[in-house]
Amino acid sequence: MGTQVPARGFQMIGTAVDVCRSIFVAHRPASLLPHSKVLWHSGFNRRLVVAAIRRKAVDVVTVILVDPDGDPLPAWLPGAHLELSLPSGRRRQYSLCGDPRDRSAYRIAVRLMPHGNGGSIEIHESLRSGDALRVHGPRHTFPFIDAEEYLFVAGGMGITPLLPMAQAAGRRGNLVYIGRSRESMPFLDRVPGAVIRPDDEFGTPDMEEILARANPHAAVYVCGPTPMQEAAARALPRVNPTCTLHLERYSPTRGTPPSEAVPSRPFH
Ligand SMILES: Cc1cc2nc3c(=O)[nH]c(=O)nc-3n(C[C@H](O)[C@H](O)[C@H](O)COP(=O)(O)OP(=O)(O)OC[C@H]3O[C@@H](n4cnc5c(N)ncnc54)[C@H](O)[C@@H]3O)c2cc1C
Repeated sequence: MGTQVPARGFQMIGTAVDVCRSIFVAHRPASLLPHSKVLWHSGFNRRLVVAAIRRKAVDVVTVILVDPDGDPLPAWLPGAHLELSLPSGRRRQYSLCGDPRDRSAYRIAVRLMPHGNGGSIEIHESLRSGDALRVHGPRHTFPFIDAEEYLFVAGGMGITPLLPMAQAAGRRGNLVYIGRSRESMPFLDRVPGAVIRPDDEFGTPDMEEILARANPHAAVYVCGPTPMQEAAARALPRVNPTCTLHLERYSPTRGTPPSEAVPSRPFH
């Protein structure tokens, strides 16, 4: 008797495991359930209020957005961006550059583009604390993959999605931050240990030399102006063919998703 009870118990557990396996593995009901990833990927659509606008560098302001009722905001991962519907009706995307653990506010940073199509001018010149905006997101189109090592290369405002990534990577990551001049580069106080490379001090950056800093198999994230991203896509296969290249474009080209992660080999 003393030996039969546990044996029957094990038999029942085995049967239960078989039933679960048949339901969840063989018949895969999970694939019929609503896919939470869809919501996670495309994010939410809500009204947020501008809590503060602060100057961070020449022509760069940060905008802090909060829930009007003070509720915690949806979680996000490094690399995520928001889409803002501005009062004029323009819709513009901005990477989240704060701390993902802070659910009380979203922080974005916006560079004034005097020759753009008015979105950044509207934010710099017309947006005020207390204004309400419809905000879509956070959207995760520039995923922060798990890797043993990272090299982050930020050009100008490309620092915004890379800042939370570099902070999450800690000692596994190195950041090279390129800009026109120190005065134009926001968040210099938040990147201790980064290689700071203003053009007016060091001249035009050499992408091959920068990407050669990555160790083999590292995840290389590049965010910045299109010519810089194109230079990285050409250079990485030559200098570090085992690395993967992860890009986020501020201007989606026709037929190309706004962000892409590609192994460096296809660029050979
Ligand atoms: C996923 C994503 C994240 C973005 N994150 C940021 C951010 O964190 N901070 C920010 O200031 N802007 C960011 N942008 C750009 C932003 O959405 C607007 O394009 C920018 O504010 C200019 O708006 P505009 O109406 O003046 O001109 P637009 O018509 O939107 O842009 C004019 C031209 O400038 C290019 N451009 C826009 N911004 C930049 C830039 N910073 N560097 C180089 N070229 C650029 C555009 O691709 C376009 O060709 C992001 C764009 C995308 C798609």
